[in-house]
Amino acid sequence: MMNRFCVTCGKEKDLVNEFCRGCFAKENSLLKHFKELDIVICENCGSYLHKNSWQKQEHKDLEKNIERVILKLFNEKIVLNPGAELKRLNINTELPKKLKIGNKSIVNVNLCIEVIGSIKGVKIEESYEVPTQIKFSTCNNCKKLRGNYYEAKLQIRPKNEKVLKFVDNYCKTKKNLFISKIEEYKHGWDVYLSEQKEARNLGNVLKKKFGGEVKESKKIFGRKDGRDVYRATIVVRLEK
Ligand SMILES: [Zn+2]
Ligand SMILES: [Zn+2]
Repeated sequence: MMNRFCVTCGKEKDLVNEFCRGCFAKENSLLKHFKELDIVICENCGSYLHKNSWQKQEHKDLEKNIERVILKLFNEKIVLNPGAELKRLNINTELPKKLKIGNKSIVNVNLCIEVIGSIKGVKIEESYEVPTQIKFSTCNNCKKLRGNYYEAKLQIRPKNEKVLKFVDNYCKTKKNLFISKIEEYKHGWDVYLSEQKEARNLGNVLKKKFGGEVKESKKIFGRKDGRDVYRATIVVRLEK
Protein backbone atom coordinates (compact mmCIF):
# COMPACT_ATOMS: atom_id res chain seq x y z
CA MET A 1 0.00 0.00 0.00
CA MET A 2 1.20 3.49 -0.83
CA ASN A 3 2.39 5.48 2.08
CA ARG A 4 0.20 8.53 2.55
CA PHE A 5 2.53 10.29 4.93
CA CYS A 6 5.93 11.86 4.37
CA VAL A 7 8.51 9.34 5.58
CA THR A 8 10.56 12.10 7.14
CA CYS A 9 8.21 14.53 8.78
CA GLY A 10 4.88 12.73 8.69
CA LYS A 11 3.03 15.43 6.81
CA GLU A 12 0.16 14.22 4.70
CA LYS A 13 0.10 16.35 1.58
CA ASP A 14 1.35 16.37 -2.02
CA LEU A 15 3.69 13.44 -1.65
CA VAL A 16 6.54 13.06 -4.10
CA ASN A 17 8.34 9.72 -3.81
CA GLU A 18 7.08 9.28 -0.24
CA PHE A 19 8.26 12.74 0.81
CA CYS A 20 6.39 15.95 1.24
CA ARG A 21 7.63 18.62 -1.15
CA GLY A 22 9.71 20.32 1.51
CA CYS A 23 11.48 17.15 2.55
CA PHE A 24 11.86 16.05 -1.08
CA ALA A 25 13.68 19.29 -1.83
CA LYS A 26 15.97 18.67 1.14
CA GLU A 27 16.65 15.07 0.15
CA ASN A 28 17.42 15.75 -3.50
CA SER A 29 19.96 17.95 -5.14
CA LEU A 30 20.12 19.33 -8.64
CA LEU A 31 23.85 19.09 -9.01
CA LYS A 32 25.49 15.71 -9.01
CA HIS A 33 28.90 17.32 -9.16
CA PHE A 34 30.92 19.80 -11.13
CA LYS A 35 34.12 19.16 -12.96
CA GLU A 36 37.15 21.16 -12.10
CA LEU A 37 37.24 24.62 -13.53
CA ASP A 38 40.31 25.77 -15.39
CA ILE A 39 40.23 29.50 -16.00
CA VAL A 40 42.92 31.08 -18.14
CA ILE A 41 42.51 34.70 -19.19
CA CYS A 42 44.80 36.88 -21.32
CA GLU A 43 46.18 39.68 -19.14
CA ASN A 44 46.28 41.99 -22.12
CA CYS A 45 43.12 41.59 -24.16
CA GLY A 46 40.86 39.62 -21.82
CA SER A 47 40.35 36.68 -24.15
CA TYR A 48 40.08 33.31 -22.47
CA LEU A 49 40.95 29.71 -23.13
CA HIS A 50 38.12 27.44 -24.09
CA LYS A 51 38.94 23.90 -25.15
CA ASN A 52 42.48 24.95 -26.01
CA SER A 53 41.56 27.88 -28.19
CA TRP A 54 41.44 31.56 -27.31
CA GLN A 55 38.02 33.19 -27.36
CA LYS A 56 37.36 36.89 -27.51
CA GLN A 57 36.66 38.62 -24.21
CA GLU A 58 33.08 38.68 -22.95
CA HIS A 59 33.22 42.24 -21.67
CA LYS A 60 35.58 45.22 -21.91
CA ASP A 61 35.59 45.75 -18.17
CA LEU A 62 38.10 43.41 -16.50
CA GLU A 63 35.91 42.41 -13.57
CA LYS A 64 32.76 41.96 -15.61
CA ASN A 65 34.77 39.96 -18.13
CA ILE A 66 36.04 37.64 -15.40
CA GLU A 67 32.50 37.13 -14.09
CA ARG A 68 31.08 36.34 -17.51
CA VAL A 69 33.93 34.06 -18.49
CA ILE A 70 33.50 32.09 -15.26
CA LEU A 71 29.75 31.80 -15.76
CA LYS A 72 30.26 30.59 -19.31
CA LEU A 73 32.92 28.04 -18.42
CA PHE A 74 31.16 26.86 -15.29
CA ASN A 75 27.95 26.20 -17.18
CA GLU A 76 29.74 23.49 -19.11
CA LYS A 77 31.20 21.92 -16.00
CA ILE A 78 28.07 21.09 -14.11
CA VAL A 79 26.62 17.61 -14.07
CA LEU A 80 22.98 17.38 -13.02
CA ASN A 81 21.32 14.52 -11.21
CA PRO A 82 18.87 12.47 -13.27
CA GLY A 83 15.57 14.26 -13.66
CA ALA A 84 16.96 17.61 -12.57
CA GLU A 85 16.05 20.62 -14.63
CA LEU A 86 18.22 23.66 -14.35
CA LYS A 87 16.43 27.00 -14.51
CA ARG A 88 19.05 29.43 -13.40
CA LEU A 89 22.67 29.57 -12.43
CA ASN A 90 24.00 32.60 -10.61
CA ILE A 91 27.61 33.03 -9.75
CA ASN A 92 28.89 35.75 -7.53
CA THR A 93 32.62 36.06 -7.99
CA GLU A 94 34.42 37.50 -5.01
CA LEU A 95 37.47 39.18 -6.44
CA PRO A 96 40.29 40.66 -4.39
CA LYS A 97 39.79 44.39 -3.74
CA LYS A 98 42.89 45.40 -5.59
CA LEU A 99 43.16 43.30 -8.68
CA LYS A 100 46.69 43.29 -10.00
CA ILE A 101 47.34 41.17 -12.99
CA GLY A 102 50.20 40.40 -15.32
CA ASN A 103 51.51 37.50 -17.30
CA LYS A 104 51.60 34.35 -15.15
CA SER A 105 49.79 35.91 -12.22
CA ILE A 106 47.33 33.77 -10.35
CA VAL A 107 44.33 35.25 -8.58
CA ASN A 108 42.43 33.30 -5.95
CA VAL A 109 38.71 33.88 -6.00
CA ASN A 110 35.73 32.54 -4.18
CA LEU A 111 32.71 31.61 -6.25
CA CYS A 112 29.32 31.74 -4.59
CA ILE A 113 27.16 29.62 -6.78
CA GLU A 114 23.40 29.56 -6.67
CA VAL A 115 21.58 26.87 -8.58
CA ILE A 116 17.85 27.05 -9.12
CA GLY A 117 15.78 24.38 -10.80
CA SER A 118 13.44 21.51 -10.16
CA ILE A 119 13.10 17.76 -9.88
CA LYS A 120 9.71 16.16 -10.54
CA GLY A 121 8.19 19.61 -10.47
CA VAL A 122 9.52 20.42 -7.00
CA LYS A 123 11.47 23.65 -6.92
CA ILE A 124 14.95 23.28 -5.51
CA GLU A 125 17.50 25.94 -4.69
CA GLU A 126 21.06 25.16 -3.77
CA SER A 127 24.14 27.17 -3.07
CA TYR A 128 27.78 26.29 -3.06
CA GLU A 129 31.01 28.02 -2.30
CA VAL A 130 33.83 27.09 -4.59
CA PRO A 131 37.31 28.47 -4.11
CA THR A 132 39.06 28.61 -7.42
CA GLN A 133 41.98 30.18 -9.26
CA ILE A 134 42.21 32.39 -12.28
CA LYS A 135 45.44 32.09 -14.19
CA PHE A 136 46.53 34.99 -16.30
CA SER A 137 48.64 34.47 -19.35
CA THR A 138 49.30 36.11 -22.71
CA CYS A 139 47.22 34.87 -25.62
CA ASN A 140 48.74 33.98 -28.97
CA ASN A 141 47.54 37.15 -30.64
CA CYS A 142 48.99 39.41 -28.00
CA LYS A 143 52.26 37.50 -28.15
CA LYS A 144 52.37 38.09 -31.88
CA LEU A 145 51.58 41.76 -31.47
CA ARG A 146 54.23 42.34 -28.87
CA GLY A 147 56.88 40.99 -31.17
CA ASN A 148 55.79 43.39 -33.88
CA TYR A 149 54.68 40.32 -35.69
CA TYR A 150 53.13 40.55 -39.12
CA GLU A 151 52.29 38.16 -41.90
CA ALA A 152 51.04 40.61 -44.45
CA LYS A 153 51.62 44.18 -45.48
CA LEU A 154 48.65 45.98 -46.91
CA GLN A 155 49.65 48.91 -49.07
CA ILE A 156 47.00 51.52 -49.61
CA ARG A 157 47.75 53.66 -52.63
CA PRO A 158 47.19 56.57 -52.72
CA LYS A 159 46.28 57.87 -49.27
CA ASN A 160 42.61 57.62 -48.49
CA GLU A 161 41.38 58.30 -44.96
CA LYS A 162 38.12 56.49 -45.55
CA VAL A 163 39.89 53.31 -46.58
CA LEU A 164 42.30 53.45 -43.65
CA LYS A 165 39.45 53.98 -41.20
CA PHE A 166 37.60 51.08 -42.78
CA VAL A 167 40.66 48.83 -42.41
CA ASP A 168 41.01 49.81 -38.76
CA ASN A 169 37.36 49.03 -38.00
CA TYR A 170 37.44 45.83 -40.01
CA CYS A 171 40.39 44.53 -37.96
CA LYS A 172 38.53 45.23 -34.75
CA THR A 173 35.76 42.87 -35.80
CA LYS A 174 38.10 39.98 -36.64
CA LYS A 175 39.49 37.86 -33.87
CA ASN A 176 42.83 37.02 -35.47
CA LEU A 177 43.45 40.19 -37.38
CA PHE A 178 45.44 42.97 -35.79
CA ILE A 179 47.33 45.94 -37.03
CA SER A 180 50.92 45.64 -35.81
CA LYS A 181 51.99 48.98 -37.16
CA ILE A 182 51.19 51.58 -39.78
CA GLU A 183 53.79 53.40 -41.84
CA GLU A 184 52.94 56.59 -43.60
CA TYR A 185 54.38 57.63 -46.95
CA LYS A 186 53.70 60.46 -49.32
CA HIS A 187 51.91 58.17 -51.71
CA GLY A 188 50.01 56.02 -49.20
CA TRP A 189 50.09 53.83 -46.12
CA ASP A 190 51.60 50.45 -45.34
CA VAL A 191 49.50 48.61 -42.82
CA TYR A 192 51.17 45.60 -41.20
CA LEU A 193 48.68 42.86 -40.45
CA SER A 194 48.91 39.85 -38.17
CA GLU A 195 47.25 37.24 -40.32
CA GLN A 196 47.73 36.53 -43.98
CA LYS A 197 44.49 34.84 -44.96
CA GLU A 198 42.44 37.47 -43.20
CA ALA A 199 44.55 40.19 -44.82
CA ARG A 200 43.80 38.67 -48.23
CA ASN A 201 40.07 38.65 -47.44
CA LEU A 202 40.34 42.26 -46.40
CA GLY A 203 41.98 43.10 -49.74
CA ASN A 204 39.01 41.59 -51.56
CA VAL A 205 36.55 43.43 -49.36
CA LEU A 206 38.31 46.72 -50.12
CA LYS A 207 38.20 46.04 -53.82
CA LYS A 208 34.46 45.38 -53.70
CA LYS A 209 33.76 48.37 -51.53
CA PHE A 210 36.10 51.00 -52.91
CA GLY A 211 36.92 49.72 -56.39
CA GLY A 212 40.38 49.73 -57.90
CA GLU A 213 42.89 46.96 -58.16
CA VAL A 214 44.33 44.50 -55.66
CA LYS A 215 47.57 42.66 -56.25
CA GLU A 216 49.48 40.30 -54.05
CA SER A 217 53.09 39.20 -53.94
CA LYS A 218 54.91 36.93 -51.51
CA LYS A 219 58.35 36.79 -50.02
CA ILE A 220 59.97 34.10 -47.92
CA PHE A 221 60.85 35.42 -44.49
CA GLY A 222 61.85 32.29 -42.68
CA ARG A 223 61.23 28.66 -41.99
CA LYS A 224 58.92 27.14 -39.44
CA ASP A 225 58.49 23.42 -38.77
CA GLY A 226 60.52 22.63 -41.89
CA ARG A 227 58.41 24.76 -44.19
CA ASP A 228 59.03 28.10 -45.81
CA VAL A 229 57.02 30.90 -44.30
CA TYR A 230 55.92 33.73 -46.54
CA ARG A 231 55.00 37.27 -45.94
CA ALA A 232 52.49 38.74 -48.32
CA THR A 233 52.37 42.21 -49.70
CA ILE A 234 48.92 43.24 -50.82
CA VAL A 235 48.70 46.41 -52.84
CA VAL A 236 45.39 48.17 -53.07
CA ARG A 237 45.43 50.69 -55.91
CA LEU A 238 42.39 52.84 -55.57
CA GLU A 239 40.69 54.46 -58.50
CA LYS A 240 41.33 58.14 -58.74
ZN1 LIG B 1 8.18 15.94 4.96
ZN1 LIG C 1 45.42 38.69 -25.60
